[in-house]
Amino acid sequence: MNAQVIKCLSSECLVEQNGKEFSVSLRGKLKKEPQSVLVGDYVMLGENNSIIESVLPRKNRLIRPFVANVDQIVVVASEEPKSDLFVIDQIIIGAAEQNLPVLLVVNKMDISSKEFASSISSDYSKVVSKIVEVSAKTGENINELKKLLKGKLSVLVGESGVGKSSLINAIFCSEKQEIGNLSQKISRGKNTTRSNQIFACEDGIKIIDSPGFSSLSLGVIDPQELARKFIDFNPYTKQCAYTSCNHISSDGCAVKKAVQCGKISKNRYDRYCKLYQKYSDEWQNRYKRKKEKNNENFTINNSRRLQKRTKAK
Ligand code: GDP
Ligand code: ZN
Repeated sequence: MNAQVIKCLSSECLVEQNGKEFSVSLRGKLKKEPQSVLVGDYVMLGENNSIIESVLPRKNRLIRPFVANVDQIVVVASEEPKSDLFVIDQIIIGAAEQNLPVLLVVNKMDISSKEFASSISSDYSKVVSKIVEVSAKTGENINELKKLLKGKLSVLVGESGVGKSSLINAIFCSEKQEIGNLSQKISRGKNTTRSNQIFACEDGIKIIDSPGFSSLSLGVIDPQELARKFIDFNPYTKQCAYTSCNHISSDGCAVKKAVQCGKISKNRYDRYCKLYQKYSDEWQNRYKRKKEKNNENFTINNSRRLQKRTKAK
């Protein structure tokens, strides 16, 4: 019977099997290899469930947070503080790069305007797999959210203050049979690390909270590839007059036409233009930056040599 790794400590792991959580150690060969076992890994246990014998093949692996076998990304947004949709667009692009579906949770509906919720819906309904409007405070739609999380390992992302911790509490505190002393784990102090630990409960909801993921860095992206990552543009891009159309400055652009007719959200298109500019600058500077880095190293080396020479004198 396989178990799933919930948390990695220095020489042992916390695993979950059939709703029970327990510590196991690692077989010697696994201890030697760095990152041989990741949070989210399914493992084969041996010696009366006391040791990890081997790690089963991974479905996928994220770098930040370092976690394996993720099923979906759950992005949390709120009106107060107002989520930066530019950040959300980039998280969605990052998820698409990993072939991961995105569930968009609009939290704090008890204090949010209908306009905010409908603007989120018009921007993202064609882009994410599902949008759900909830309130961690009143419990509105938390059951609906739980259905969407059931049986999956979800990575929770979103800017600070949108209510990620509150949602974890709302989802798990309604569970009578929590694994271990979950509530204690959630009411962690400010300085305890929240990342790289899965919160799990018996009905198969598994969540990994990832504060770092909100500032997801995608690396250098070719701006010409950007439109393909805006999947709501896809039905129109083939109809552009030029195959190399960047959907910003060219004539005969079907994407721009779709924006004018209201078929593509104007706000989302504006953020595309902003992202295109950002990636164009980064793309043009990608070699320059590499060169600068090399020069920096050269300068450091030289100044060290100079210091050595001065000392020698
Ligand atoms: P995190 O930084 O994303 O983990 O956000 P927190 O869970 O710490 O929540 C930030 C603040 O928003 C706290 O003061 C929460 O009490 C509040 N909050 C969270 N969810 C809701 C909600 O659904 N409604 C309201 N009114 N406040 C909420
Ligand atoms: Zn175009």
